[in-house]
Amino acid sequence: MPRRRHWGWGFEGEPVGEGAAELAAHLGFGSAELEQPAPLRVDPDRALHAHGASYLDVVRALRGDFPHLPDVVVRPDDEPGVLAALERADAENLTVTPYGGGTSVVGGVDPVSRHDGAMSLDLGRLDRVLEVDPVSRAARIQAGATGPRIEAQLAEHGMTLRFYPQSFERSTLGGWIATRAAGHFATGPTHIDDLVESVRAVTPRGEVWESRRLPASGAGPSPDRLLLGSEGTLAVITEAWVRVRPREVPRWSARVELDELSAGLELVREIVQSGMRPSNCRLVEAREAQLTLSADRTTLHLGFEGSSEPVEQARALCARYGDVLEGAGGAWRDAFLRAPYLRDTLVSMGVLTETFETAATWDRLPGLIEAVQAAVGWVGMVYCRITHAYPDGAAPYFTVVAPARRGDEEAQWAEIKRLASEAVLAGGGTITHHHAVGRDHRRWYDLQRPAPFAAALRAAKAAVDPDGRLNPGVLLD
Ligand SMILES: Cc1cc2nc3c(=O)[nH]c(=O)nc-3n(C[C@H](O)[C@H](O)[C@H](O)COP(=O)(O)OP(=O)(O)OC[C@H]3O[C@@H](n4cnc5c(N)ncnc54)[C@H](O)[C@@H]3O)c2cc1C
Repeated sequence: MPRRRHWGWGFEGEPVGEGAAELAAHLGFGSAELEQPAPLRVDPDRALHAHGASYLDVVRALRGDFPHLPDVVVRPDDEPGVLAALERADAENLTVTPYGGGTSVVGGVDPVSRHDGAMSLDLGRLDRVLEVDPVSRAARIQAGATGPRIEAQLAEHGMTLRFYPQSFERSTLGGWIATRAAGHFATGPTHIDDLVESVRAVTPRGEVWESRRLPASGAGPSPDRLLLGSEGTLAVITEAWVRVRPREVPRWSARVELDELSAGLELVREIVQSGMRPSNCRLVEAREAQLTLSADRTTLHLGFEGSSEPVEQARALCARYGDVLEGAGGAWRDAFLRAPYLRDTLVSMGVLTETFETAATWDRLPGLIEAVQAAVGWVGMVYCRITHAYPDGAAPYFTVVAPARRGDEEAQWAEIKRLASEAVLAGGGTITHHHAVGRDHRRWYDLQRPAPFAAALRAAKAAVDPDGRLNPGVLLD
């Protein structure tokens, strides 16, 4: 296996910086002379586990700056190994940070210690599909399995989980569950929540927390739901039963080019409210389409799977709003998967590139998008796309691209995060639709959640993790 680079997205030996000159010319800022990574002066494995994959993580690691190096990285082979690691943490009084693929963009995997030292608990060796139930269409999968590992093993059974976050290549089932991740499918089961049948986890007290396999249940608050989004603070997820399906071939895809983002919002709302459930329904603002996709106008990427989808109805509806180019799904997919690599190039060029996302009801959406763009637009470009659509609202995803204040990126980033987050909450949105809370969103998450709920969550943590060993500072103090 090639070794992951200690900074950025790719692997050792892969080139960084392709197209830098063209990017600098297109943006009007950023240098084609790339900043080179500082020599690594610490153990590479500890460096790799010292951070996630946010913009700040990439900048710091590029410069050899690791504020939260773990004292020890532990890679158990199985669930008894996870329990042994937790016992060791107890004996040596260590903080424990569960680590899946390390793709957190919200400061979720930094091993911040509140004890005598910090352990990064890497679940990567728990990477197998253990069982497939073809009758119920479900599979039991270990938490450390990445997207490609899951799909390769399910393919042997003719099945797919059909869950593709942009971080698919590196992120893991346990990480998806712990952060309530969203895949690239725009409607229907968008979040991993929808695909989880039951979860198995172990607590720092050595107890097993396993929910019953059920298609649905009305028995009180759901034990799965408490683990979904627990962000490594309550228990270490070791495996889950998830809903799988036979592999399907996409049936129809199109690109709809439009004159205005507002027309695109109307079109997406009409599509979902008329009962259509496209698998892809991503609306990309013109300036972002120009940067990543070589399209000139605001573009809706639309795709349907399965034989019962109302393609004729969709085609006619789209034609009322813009120009429809059929069968254009491939270019979008390639750009989607290339984006993490592009970010490494931009960072090396001295370009700040930050993304944040939210969701709001349709009545508030245009105002929220306008307010966010006004709040942070002065720093550079703020692109907006719609990534997920629901009958009652949608999820806008913002990308900020600006000249970095080299050496002062942390303060610059913090200012952007503050302004954007305040605008999101004031506009009626959530602090995150799928990137999670981590440490970066804590302030605004605290404002968003009801106080009695916060108290209940604190009590739940005290019950299962009385020494506050798991991921302190994330979700709770
Ligand atoms: C380029 C890029 C694109 C991205 N695209 C998407 C996207 O399309 N959709 C999306 O939802 N997110 C996306 N993300 C964010 C990130 O990939 C998700 O949050 C993902 O779910 C994290 O999975 P992971 O395995 O890497 O978890 P990690 O980053 O390792 O951990 C994330 C959090 O989960 C906890 N955790 C991890 N594993 C376990 C476990 N087994 N038990 C308990 N807690 C655990 C960690 O402690 C941490 O708090 C993207 C990130 C990047 C860098």
